[in-house]
Amino acid sequence: MLTSRLPDRVEPYKLAARAEHLEGLVALAGFERLAEQVGAQAGECRVWLDFAIDSQGRREIRGRLEAELQLPCRRCLEPLAQRVESEFLLGMVTSDALAAELPTSHEPVLVEDEQLNLLVVVEDELILSLPQSVYHDEAQCGVSRDQLSSGKEAESSESPAASPFEVLRRLKGKP
Ligand SMILES: [Zn+2]
Repeated sequence: MLTSRLPDRVEPYKLAARAEHLEGLVALAGFERLAEQVGAQAGECRVWLDFAIDSQGRREIRGRLEAELQLPCRRCLEPLAQRVESEFLLGMVTSDALAAELPTSHEPVLVEDEQLNLLVVVEDELILSLPQSVYHDEAQCGVSRDQLSSGKEAESSESPAASPFEVLRRLKGKP
């Protein structure tokens, strides 16, 4: 069981040269970009990272993360618990130009001044791993099928129409 914190900032080239393994917890409450997408989160993300230099001389990070998020239901927008997991392979690069040379198996991660902010990496991966369709079971959902088909729910909604969920809900309300 993980109990330690993942370090915020690391020197990834050194870690790769030593083939280091890092693991630990990251508090979800600190992720502002994630909160903008799916609302504020509590709890922690569990992260495992293996740093290495591959046979081509590429410095890479193999990682895995797990978290329980509260994601908005696309019908009623109320949160529901969803387990999010991801495995990823990152290639360290020092510029965008070098990122283009990475094989498609690797996602580029930009290393500046030999430093890497692991919190940014973990938040990026969490956002990429968000499930696209999150719905309550119909019995638990705040919006019934009748409301959807009449379209009244969308018209009387208090939230502004700019929300992508709102747009989606209106689309779904069409026969
Ligand atoms: Zn719902």
